[in-house]
Amino acid sequence: MIRPFTVFCKLNRISFSDRQWLEKEAGSLSHTDGVCPVCHAGASLSPFASYTRYLVEWKDSLPATHEITVQRYLCSSCGHTHALLSSALVPYSSYSLRFILMVLRDHFLGRACVQKICERAGISVSTLYRWKTLFLAHKALWLGILEDMGTPAGTFMDGMDGALLQGFYRKFLFSFLQHPRGTSADPPRGMQGRASGFT
Ligand SMILES: [Zn+2]
Repeated sequence: MIRPFTVFCKLNRISFSDRQWLEKEAGSLSHTDGVCPVCHAGASLSPFASYTRYLVEWKDSLPATHEITVQRYLCSSCGHTHALLSSALVPYSSYSLRFILMVLRDHFLGRACVQKICERAGISVSTLYRWKTLFLAHKALWLGILEDMGTPAGTFMDGMDGALLQGFYRKFLFSFLQHPRGTSADPPRGMQGRASGFT
């Protein structure tokens, strides 16, 4: 997997949609280090194939699902292929990063009960708690135990920016909110057959 990072402002100040964010980063290696993640050869990647997957983002305060195209690249040095995955996305999840964060924000700030938040987002209660567990674990990983204890989830979320996402990925070699086993969190209702197993 290759991850471009082009958005470095605070995530809650981004004025464009997740799809626009994705289009900005799609189909180009220019925002990556251009190095194969497996063999680390430089200038060895070329477009290979593409596949479609779903993206769920917030639109006018409602979940909106789109089909998007993900470009894969082939390394001429080791033969591995890698998907170029925009930083707007969470690997192995149909939901955009900001979609998940906004659900969790409502929960952390107590804006509504869990049932109501899940109903509005079209997700199951277990999905919300799975996201919450991942968020808190990755927050602790990033901050370290002592700082994590003194930093409320809402405060941490308000401070999240693209630099954190990039730093987290470089340090731990997986993405913020990425499920550790690389398996999909709950796919959107009605898409269970299509949404599993993608990057
Ligand atoms: Zn390679």
